[in-house]
Amino acid sequence: MLKLIPIPAFETNYIWCLSNVIYPGKVVIVDPGAAPPVLNYLKTHKLELSAIFITHHHKDHTGGLAEIVQHYSCPVYASPDSANQEMISVPELDLSFTAIPIPGHTLDHTAFYGHELVFTGDTLFAGGCGRLFEGTYQQLYDSLQTLAALPKETQVYCGHEYTEHNLQFGLTVEPENKDITSKLKLVKFLRAEQQCTLPSSIIEELNTNVFLRCDQPAVKAAAEKYSGERLESPVDVFRVLRDWKNGF
Ligand SMILES: [Zn+2]
Repeated sequence: MLKLIPIPAFETNYIWCLSNVIYPGKVVIVDPGAAPPVLNYLKTHKLELSAIFITHHHKDHTGGLAEIVQHYSCPVYASPDSANQEMISVPELDLSFTAIPIPGHTLDHTAFYGHELVFTGDTLFAGGCGRLFEGTYQQLYDSLQTLAALPKETQVYCGHEYTEHNLQFGLTVEPENKDITSKLKLVKFLRAEQQCTLPSSIIEELNTNVFLRCDQPAVKAAAEKYSGERLESPVDVFRVLRDWKNGF
């Protein structure tokens, strides 16, 4: 049985700490953007580090790495060498994950999938997606489709607490979407209590994340109205939504 703890960093980042209750005292850390909160957490709970996963090279996901590996020697897994998926095993926790290339936000962006959960970094957020820094709209769209095709019950652990703002944007695009309305209500309650709104799940994202709903007539119509263009394909709809969100 797996346990996931979010270690908050900066304003909105979550550094995920993964453990397996069958193997107490050992953990995997995902995206250590800062060292002090991770080192404090490991020390306080008397934990050993078995591996570090890095979803992409941005500083707020990697900034703590150099200092952490001075204190703990463990393998660090980042983007696969090729464009192919790679298997990663963490024998100390009896876990294995598939590293899946998902370029777009950055070219090196990687998801780690296994045990009915996925770490999506800054590619798929609850209710949204990351900005385009290095890739093309088509690449980010395809990467989101890759994640959307994972089993529906897969739990989604992303890198930032952006859920409330994302769902507000979603409701602007798709005001009649009752799944967004009800999730936003829950998320507002959680945020008022300063609680984490994650994980989400693939099925929740399919229902509430407009960036995964570019083929829906209501989403297409909203994007066409906003842009004043006729949008021929879902990736055109995605391009308009992504640009629209930048100014939201
Ligand atoms: Zn990033």
